This record gives sequence, structure tokens and C-alpha cells, in this order.
Amino acid sequence: MLFIIFVILTPIVVWLLLHFMSSRQKSDAEDATPEAQIELCAMCQDEFPMTELLEKEVGGYGRVYCFCGTCIENLYHEYQHKTDIKVGE
Ligand SMILES: [Zn+2]
Repeated sequence: MLFIIFVILTPIVVWLLLHFMSSRQKSDAEDATPEAQIELCAMCQDEFPMTELLEKEVGGYGRVYCFCGTCIENLYHEYQHKTDIKVGE
């Protein structure tokens, strides 16, 4: 009787262990996939994925700030406007 229980239970236990381990490996692999990292733009404070931000080291402390395309574009236009006025004078 004990032998029969042993024979029936062993494959079930082994199968359950394998199933548990494979599902755990799968979730580990899912965790390892790089998710789009979200960062704040230093200027507008909006959240963007890192792929849409430009990282720049600012100042002497080696602090890295992220800037979004819209803010960079605004800065560019602001600078253009400023230099245009100077040229016109
Ligand atoms: Zn921005």
C-alpha cells in the first residue's frame, strides 16, 4: 500500500516541482527584460521614457539632468530669438 502511494505520488511531486521551477524561471526572464525607464525632464518636470530624453552633465558636481525634446526645442528657439534681436540691433 505504501509502495503504491509512493509510486503515484513521486511523479506528481516531481512534475509539480518542475512546473514550479519553470514558471519561476519564466517570471525571472520577464523581470530581466529591459522595461522602458521613466525619467523626469529637468525643465518641464514631465515624465518621459529614457529613449526620448537627452542626458547632460550639468555644473561641476557631475549631476546628470535629463531634457525632453520639447524643452530642447524651446531653448533653441529662445536662443535663436535672442540672437536674432541682437543681429537686428
Ligand atoms: Zn521637458
